[in-house]
Amino acid sequence: MDSDPINTQLNTELETLRSEVAGLRAVQHIHRHTEQGLQDIELQLAGVIHSAMDAIITVDEMQHIVIFNAAAETMFGCSAHEVLGTSIDRFLPSRYRKNHYQHIEQFGHAKVTNRRMGALGAISGVRSNGEEFPIEASISHVEISGRKLFTVILRDITERIQAEEHIAQLGSLLEESLNEIFLFNVETLQFVQVNRGARDNLGYSMDELRVMTPTSLNPEFTEMSFRKLIQPLRTGLSAKIDFRTTHRRKNGTCYPIEVHIQLVTHNATQVFLAIILDLSERVEAETALQETQRTLMTLMGNLPGMVYRCKSDPDWTMEFMSSGCSELTGYVPEDFLQNQNVSYGQDVIVPEDRERIEKEVHVANGERRLFQLTYRIRTSDGTTKWVWEQGRGVFFNDGTLCALEGYIFDVTQEKVLEDRLRKTERLAELGTLASGMAHEIGTPMNVILGRAELLMRKTLDETTKKGLGTIVTQVERITKIMNQLLSFARKRPIERHPIDLASIITTTIDMVQERLASHHIQVETDMAFDQPQVFADHDQISQVLLNLVINACHAMPDGGILRIKLQHSTNQLHLTISDSGCGILAEDLSRLFDPFFTTKPVGEGTGLGLTVVHGIIQEHDGVIHVESERGKGTSFHIDLPIHQLGFPDV
Ligand code: ADP
Ligand code: MG
Repeated sequence: MDSDPINTQLNTELETLRSEVAGLRAVQHIHRHTEQGLQDIELQLAGVIHSAMDAIITVDEMQHIVIFNAAAETMFGCSAHEVLGTSIDRFLPSRYRKNHYQHIEQFGHAKVTNRRMGALGAISGVRSNGEEFPIEASISHVEISGRKLFTVILRDITERIQAEEHIAQLGSLLEESLNEIFLFNVETLQFVQVNRGARDNLGYSMDELRVMTPTSLNPEFTEMSFRKLIQPLRTGLSAKIDFRTTHRRKNGTCYPIEVHIQLVTHNATQVFLAIILDLSERVEAETALQETQRTLMTLMGNLPGMVYRCKSDPDWTMEFMSSGCSELTGYVPEDFLQNQNVSYGQDVIVPEDRERIEKEVHVANGERRLFQLTYRIRTSDGTTKWVWEQGRGVFFNDGTLCALEGYIFDVTQEKVLEDRLRKTERLAELGTLASGMAHEIGTPMNVILGRAELLMRKTLDETTKKGLGTIVTQVERITKIMNQLLSFARKRPIERHPIDLASIITTTIDMVQERLASHHIQVETDMAFDQPQVFADHDQISQVLLNLVINACHAMPDGGILRIKLQHSTNQLHLTISDSGCGILAEDLSRLFDPFFTTKPVGEGTGLGLTVVHGIIQEHDGVIHVESERGKGTSFHIDLPIHQLGFPDV
């Protein structure tokens, strides 16, 4: 059968069918493979979704949940089984729900198919226990067989936000700190972070500081010495190192600082943390305080007297004494303060005044008021001084006395003047009295004297004569006292002229020459005759000399030497009258010039001689003082102002 057309067509169709079947088989084969691939991918995807760290939720257009992975279960606290097919509403805070729907709808119509994490802004979710928490979400949508599916990937950022807030707080704390805070690298020592306070004060930017180390700011350290200083921090020998030094600003100025360095571990790396206090203000305040203290000390040092603080005990144990102490007491403050070998209460205040002082201070403290005292102290060289003191008690809060504080100063001079004034007043009174008396007594005395002398001449009886003689002597004595009294009570103004002291001395010695000789008293004079003149009352000066010479005679009953010396300085004549007599008791020295002070037996001394001398010298603007040693003799020193030529006669 050659070329049978039906057979040929059949064969052709058969071939076509065969090849179609083969094609189908191939397609079927490919299809089977693809299905298998899709199944694999689906499985893999399910695995990824299930094990994802983030919560993955897929919802349909109705907002019903179709996928809810394990992380979502943990995040929201419920199982997939519970929530599949239910609305997503339950996981959204009610106030956001409306927004959410709008959002999803808009997103569904938009061309973009996904938005990355965070693009949705700050949103929150609600756990099944009602707790709200911050989340970050990304969203995508796909359309499958006309069905829209939305998938959100959610991340719980509670912890991250907390940590971020914490760090932000810490950072701003450091940044805002008024202290200077530096972090620097453990190896290179270069600054890692420097807060604003430090940058502002130093004048460097952070970029500049990043290539600097602490030694670049510190003129006192070399890198070696600084490394050595902080070595104990590395070895753990010290937890913290504190020291004072200076920092140098960018503009070259320096400021004092206090540094505290420690080694801290931050995110598993070690870094040095330095906190620095700018001491400029403190140093300024300290300097100001020192300055104030210095001023105060100078002021106190310049005060004529002493400022003190002491314990309220019998020793007046001193806690503070100003430098005036030395001049006032003759002791240095250390004698009272450090060595405590002198007690103000027991050694300086004179025993006679202690009890009174104690009482006055006690009363004043009881009434919480100032005390003012006048008392005597004995200085280191044994002289007595009068002092005035004002002070007050310092009390603890509970009212107990803790110290005394006050000011003491020397009033000896004032006291002397005061005494002299009192004496002068007394003398003035005495003068008035004396002139009155002289007048009243003088006349009858003259009568008595006249009559007694008359009777003496008339009588022949020796006993009567002797008696009358006694009357005469005694009346003469009274008259003498009266005259002496009168001589210093005399109201007549002194008549001063320029006079030659040396010539008055010579005349006076002549007057008593006989008396001196009979007492075996030798006179030695030492005076140049060309001495300057004094401006004085001749009679009064000769009265002074006479009184002194006669006293000297009395002091040398068995003879001796009377020395008279006259010298001069620029403004004054110095007269000294010395004897080699009995001398004067120390305790009598202060009363020597007092009226009626005498050591002579009744009838012999009047105690007015030196009072008159003193009054006259004072009236001549002069000074008299006495020096005496018991058994050796006495010297009276008189200084009188020189008469100035051309000086108007007053
Ligand atoms: P009177 O001589 O009357 O006693 P004065 O005032 O002259 O009074 O002297 C007072 C006292 O001073 C004397 O009593 C005597 O104790 C003492 N006195 C004065 N001058 C001397 C002297 N040169 N030496 C020793 N004592 C003296
Ligand atoms: Mg006398």
